[in-house]
Amino acid sequence: MGAVFIGVIDRGTNVLQVRPTTLCPLNCVFCSVDAGPRSKWRQAEYMVSSPEWLAGWAGRIARFKGGGVEALIDGVGDPFTYPHLPGLVSLLKREEGVERVAVETHGWALTIPLVERLEEAGLDRINLSLDTLDPAQARLLTGTPWYPLERIIRVAEYIARETSIDLHVTPVWVPGVNDEAVRRVVEWTYRIGAGKRWPPVTIQKYNVHRYGRRVPRVKPQSWREFWERLRRLEEETGLRVTWTMEEWGMEKRPRVPLPYKKGSRLRVRAAAPGWLRGTLTAVTLDGEWLVTVKRAPRVPLGSTLRVRVAEAYDSIIIAEPA
Ligand code: SF4
Repeated sequence: MGAVFIGVIDRGTNVLQVRPTTLCPLNCVFCSVDAGPRSKWRQAEYMVSSPEWLAGWAGRIARFKGGGVEALIDGVGDPFTYPHLPGLVSLLKREEGVERVAVETHGWALTIPLVERLEEAGLDRINLSLDTLDPAQARLLTGTPWYPLERIIRVAEYIARETSIDLHVTPVWVPGVNDEAVRRVVEWTYRIGAGKRWPPVTIQKYNVHRYGRRVPRVKPQSWREFWERLRRLEEETGLRVTWTMEEWGMEKRPRVPLPYKKGSRLRVRAAAPGWLRGTLTAVTLDGEWLVTVKRAPRVPLGSTLRVRVAEAYDSIIIAEPA
């Protein structure tokens, strides 16, 4: 725990984010985490080599939180780049305290045989980010000429109709770019029977992030405008796209206490180059927490350095050299 880009993140609910990999082969024009081959800010990519270790951590935290936890496999990349994905799902399902397992993707790797392996492993839900049903527009939005939209649609319909896995579709709405497409995606999710146990569709708001990509000439909607437009879409289509936490089976839960707060000084061991340029990934000397060091000095890996915590929130620790 401790890093935003890899491992387990606890945001004080019964949903734990489990992040096995930072890799992504796509270049979505709105990517908030600047993933993929055209990334400008990244200097290293990460992958958890042992799915047993990751599942073990998630289970340990799920039990601390009182059980009944959802392990949501997501990340600053696409989890389908993780070669041990079916194994990770079945390991998580075997952890006491983990009640359900879901995974997020933009769908590029979905095939029927892989879906069947994930179903056998016990996967409960796929959150599929599908931003349009138009292949040319999908290639533009994902910045990927080979994005296989037709296959993704076919496999998504198979998931909804033929498997025990639930399908939840999460298009990103880029205002002025895919307005009409989002409406069609919403209608399609209802038509194909997505949302067997969870809501069928949630629309994601396009936001600009410091280290994310920006869509040229597109101004993000304010949250107020976004919610108003969602309500209007619901009125016009007669289909719901907004949900309560209860409908999601989400509730607040105790957080794993952070051992450090803003301003704490500590010694850490330099473990690896940081995920973003100018950062270093370090580990607390007890080996329990990852710490991202900003404005990191060039130090040999394995050496120790003194840092001061600049931000400590959820289960994430960001520090600077002290
Ligand atoms: S939005 Fe998701 S799928 Fe697209 S580039 Fe970013 S991480 Fe990859």
